Amino acid sequence: MQTKKGRMIYEGKAKKIYNTADSGLYIQHFKDDATAFNAKKRGTIVNKGIMNNKISERLFTLLESKGVPTHFVKRLNDRDMLVKRLEIIPVEVVIRNVIAGSMSKRLGVEEGTKVKKPILEFYYKKDELDDPLVNDDTVIALEWATLSELKTIRSMALKVNRTLRSYLDKRGIILVDFKLEFGRNNGQILLGDEICPDTCRFWDKKTMEKMDKDRFRRDLGKVEEAYQEVCRRVCE
Ligand code: UDP
Repeated sequence: MQTKKGRMIYEGKAKKIYNTADSGLYIQHFKDDATAFNAKKRGTIVNKGIMNNKISERLFTLLESKGVPTHFVKRLNDRDMLVKRLEIIPVEVVIRNVIAGSMSKRLGVEEGTKVKKPILEFYYKKDELDDPLVNDDTVIALEWATLSELKTIRSMALKVNRTLRSYLDKRGIILVDFKLEFGRNNGQILLGDEICPDTCRFWDKKTMEKMDKDRFRRDLGKVEEAYQEVCRRVCE
């Protein structure tokens, strides 16, 4: 299997994507750079890339074992992950089990309010527009995904939620909310991107302390420590 980095084809806020000699595979490189509020706030979280690579590996492996197809192939080293090439669907899928962040602000609902049924939302991936909230009809009308693809995405996202919630609960972590990205690979929808404290809200079950990027976003301190603790609980 070819695992050498080729040309860098994309640099995002937290990751770089490289070509490999195999046109069906990319290398996803995890950086320590941290951004918030659409990159208006920037910083570094020491060794974040290493921890997010490990946490994502563990969670993608778990999801694959439960029948959720993902782009994950294998972790190559501390900061590099081999993934299948995806034609990314420009929609961020957010699932919420507890109200927090933007939904708490938008609807005036207190952060920490639990909901009986998970809430699934779609956001259009467009930095210039601050990723606006959109609905199913918009996604279909603008041909970002077909109705059938959207049905698949919805059921995969809910399965990811059930699987991660129960896995994390056993490790003393409440899965508050998270963001997923999906793409097409040979006509199949695969889960892409990463699953880590940058893209999820994790609260400690006992103390309700935040163990995710909100520590950076809100200047709560002990950012590295929180990522390390999530890494320990998820990977051990
Ligand atoms: N999220 C993300 N990338 C984004 C926006 C949100 O990974 O561009 C994650 C975020 O970490 C949280 C969930 O999606 O776990 C819901 O985020 P929310 O809409 O509350 O926005 P935020 O408060 O993070 O701006």
